[in-house]
Amino acid sequence: MKVPMTEYLEIDLDRELWMCRVCNHEVGPARQPYKEGLLVYVRDPREIHAPILDPKRYEFTFAPDAKWVQILEFYCPSCATMIEVEYLPPGHPPVVDMEFDIDALKEQWKDRKPLNAAELAGPDMAGRAHHHHSNKQKAQQQGRG
Ligand SMILES: [Zn+2]
Repeated sequence: MKVPMTEYLEIDLDRELWMCRVCNHEVGPARQPYKEGLLVYVRDPREIHAPILDPKRYEFTFAPDAKWVQILEFYCPSCATMIEVEYLPPGHPPVVDMEFDIDALKEQWKDRKPLNAAELAGPDMAGRAHHHHSNKQKAQQQGRG
């Protein structure tokens, strides 16, 4: 049984593995932080939040100070989907943001059926009830299985 945990991560309860929901890559043991199985790209925050003022003329430019913050981007090593981003002081270890009781999850899901595509998609957004997709979009969505 695979249980979706985020938009891009699921846990395979039978094998106790974090899995990429995009490419089914085995990210790592579900009892360990999933980030240990991902690629990390440490970014200078000024690449993401460009200075508004000329950094040659001003010390403070409205861009984050790279001595105080860096941006960690986490990617699936198989399909390169960006799975998580976090802002941390330089030298700070990645945050353990999800730690599930795997035995309790197994107990919760032992008598449940896997979620179908409609349940995974969630409810329609407000005001979007009359939104219609083209046949091409419908075919592409069905092809994703
Ligand atoms: Zn992947």
